Amino acid sequence: MAWDRLGDKARQRLQDQLVREQVRAVAGGSAYWKKRFADIGRPAASVTTAAQLGAVPAVGERDVSPAGDAAAMAALVLHGGERQFALHAPGPTLRRALRKKATRSRDYARIVARETRATSYGWTGLGFRYPVASTRSDLDVLARAGARLWSVIGATADDALVAAVDHGSVEHAALHYAALGAGAPALFPGTDPVDVAEAATLAPPTVLAAGAAAAAELLDALRESGVPLRQLRTLLLVGAPSDGERAAARRALAEAGAAGDAIVLAAHVPPGGRLLWAECRQSGGGSGLHTYPDHDLVQVVDPETGEPATSGTAGELVLSQLGMRGSALLRWRAGDLVGAIDTAPCTACQRRVPRLVGLRRGALVVPTESERLLDLRAVAGALAGRADLADWRVVVGRRARDGRQQVVVHVAPTGDPGEATVGAAADIRAAAGMLPSQLVVAEYDELRRLTGDRLTSRMLLRR
Ligand SMILES: [Zn+2]
Repeated sequence: MAWDRLGDKARQRLQDQLVREQVRAVAGGSAYWKKRFADIGRPAASVTTAAQLGAVPAVGERDVSPAGDAAAMAALVLHGGERQFALHAPGPTLRRALRKKATRSRDYARIVARETRATSYGWTGLGFRYPVASTRSDLDVLARAGARLWSVIGATADDALVAAVDHGSVEHAALHYAALGAGAPALFPGTDPVDVAEAATLAPPTVLAAGAAAAAELLDALRESGVPLRQLRTLLLVGAPSDGERAAARRALAEAGAAGDAIVLAAHVPPGGRLLWAECRQSGGGSGLHTYPDHDLVQVVDPETGEPATSGTAGELVLSQLGMRGSALLRWRAGDLVGAIDTAPCTACQRRVPRLVGLRRGALVVPTESERLLDLRAVAGALAGRADLADWRVVVGRRARDGRQQVVVHVAPTGDPGEATVGAAADIRAAAGMLPSQLVVAEYDELRRLTGDRLTSRMLLRR
């Protein structure tokens, strides 16, 4: 059955089976996950369905590396060799390998290495940058998923890609393998507009990929420097765009003299992940990011507590990668907020894959006036469930004086305000590695009158 045609039951059955295989491989091969399953007192073998995996506490990059040290993220890489290979290799691969082993062929070692050895790294991260590893067979997955991405955005082998993305990033790798998997030509000039203009003049793109925040400005610069853009059909915003970024990109595309049917679509790799999800061409970007159900299990948690979300499918995105080795993400807190996970068939392209609607990239990690990144999940974790606080709010806004972003924590103490704020501040510092811009004591009723765009029930964003 095609990856995008599975009914709900068939998808759940497939994902349950893939979850069993993935959990076994990850718990056996990753130092971090071995310890993690021991710590939560849950044998990996008892996790046999996607729903059961959903009850395993989710973790993010700060759980693996509290100090934000990239080297510590190596704990996520599976180390297998022959024993792991025999445990988790797909049946046909294993049988083929064992035949080679029986005949003492050197190919056996090659097949084992292909499945277990991390050979290729891509940079990613939310609060800090770190490399994630891929095995040779992960790269095959990247190419297959890339060919799917190409068809989701309505591109063919006749399309030509110019991608203005950071060299060595997971987005670069995903687009590189997408073009490779689709058999389409691609150029990767980096993100400097001068270099992009040179590449786009040499090989006029039909697909231009650029970071969501930079795309409109880049397209304006290309137009102004006389780059021919008549053949451009797709402006791909890499990193789920905000409404403002999407509007700016549409405006720039309309002014660029592009092809008559040219549209703006978004694509996104969650921090820590490797596969690029895209919006379908038929929807014009209106039906969410299409995931790959045989490689992505997408779930949500309450961003304030990290507990499974109680109402619907809105919350912080939690990703489990299926069938991928290298760096293993299991119940991974991405720091992205999603409005909903829609599992109904896409009304535009008819694909039956879970779609992420209303994704706000990196919404839970914000830069502060000191330009350091503050992880709101850590702040909320330090405040949630405190007996000395009746309620609290975290307000992300801009300072009137100079427009710099600041994070103000409002607390309503149950008893002595001094003790409560000192305790809360100490816990925030311990969990987030820094203090918020301000910690303000307020009355319980005042908290309820605070307004802003709701990130969560207690976290507000003011523009
Ligand atoms: Zn669709």
